[in-house]
Amino acid sequence: MKLKLDKKDLGSFLQNLMDEYDLFAPVQLAEGVSVYKKIDHPGEVDLSTSNPQKPAKEVFFPQSETMFRYGKSGKQNEMVSTEEVIRERILFGARPCDIQAVSITDEVFLGKEYTDVYYLNKRKTTTIIGMACDHPLSTCFCSSTSGGPFLRKGSDLFFTDLGESFLVELLTEKGMAFLKNKFFKEANTKEISLAEGIEEKALKMTDASVPVEGIDKRLDLMVESPFWGRLHEKCIGCRVCTYLCPTCHCFDIMDETMTNGGQRVRNWDSCLSPLYSQETSGHNPRPTNRERTRQRIMHKFNYFPKNFGRAACVGCGRCILYCPVHFDIRQAINWTSAKRLKLQRGEHSTNP
Ligand code: SF4
Ligand code: SF4
Repeated sequence: MKLKLDKKDLGSFLQNLMDEYDLFAPVQLAEGVSVYKKIDHPGEVDLSTSNPQKPAKEVFFPQSETMFRYGKSGKQNEMVSTEEVIRERILFGARPCDIQAVSITDEVFLGKEYTDVYYLNKRKTTTIIGMACDHPLSTCFCSSTSGGPFLRKGSDLFFTDLGESFLVELLTEKGMAFLKNKFFKEANTKEISLAEGIEEKALKMTDASVPVEGIDKRLDLMVESPFWGRLHEKCIGCRVCTYLCPTCHCFDIMDETMTNGGQRVRNWDSCLSPLYSQETSGHNPRPTNRERTRQRIMHKFNYFPKNFGRAACVGCGRCILYCPVHFDIRQAINWTSAKRLKLQRGEHSTNP
């Protein structure tokens, strides 16, 4: 059944959710940066950005997260775990690429061998309300990565902006729990066909031509290719692309000690950092930006598909949009394709 929510009721709807849930939604910070964060007031929610700069992965895998605190009480050592999630949570307004990315981080944090309790506890207590992407940007290529601006997979409820209202689809059991929500009304055929038109238009706006399909096999041929020497040249190693990527999940763990105790904290890290792969002996298997750039591309498009059957990229375009030197990952993917053709022809140019 398709429902609708009038925009004039959005604030009351969100307030109603907040009475029962911790609500995470896109917010514009004073610095002009948009992020997903826990909101205190419905007025904070900002749906005007196509996709916030920082991805929704933060809701499940925070940039900095205390794992436990420790200290002394008299002569006793004490440890307080912070893994428990107190209230059910809602992620509202996430775009389909970020929601698809959550299924990729699930592969890592909820794997067969290891389960990360900090991630699991947040994930299982969160209902996801996806928001259709009706204005994909020129940097978006989700249609090349098995996604799409209206991909519903991963959402429990799915909203489409119709101007005066949102079309609401209830997609899962968690979503169906909202069937009797007092702010939802039945959508009429005119609203449903308006949503279909918006979807059709958006589908034509994303780039489906980036050759992600089969890239793992092409990269198999390129481990020692001179291509990497050229590819990394303009990258200044700022690591913005990895921090803003919804699928990147490198982290570092450190203890912050104080006089009578401290805390263990997990922070985002990046494979593009020189220290990330440095061993205790001082040896670094990725000593230059060339090896680190190769690692970034190889992990996303070769190792990850081999381990999980799909690339660790959802085509959100953030790494293209916010790279200070305009490193375009679509070009890198295209170059692997061109390189493969050259290899097949027996040519070994260093020019991508
Ligand atoms: S954002 Fe650009 S310059 Fe910075 S590390 Fe990534 S590719 Fe290199
Ligand atoms: S690699 Fe770039 S385009 Fe792909 S998911 Fe990460 S930030 Fe988005």
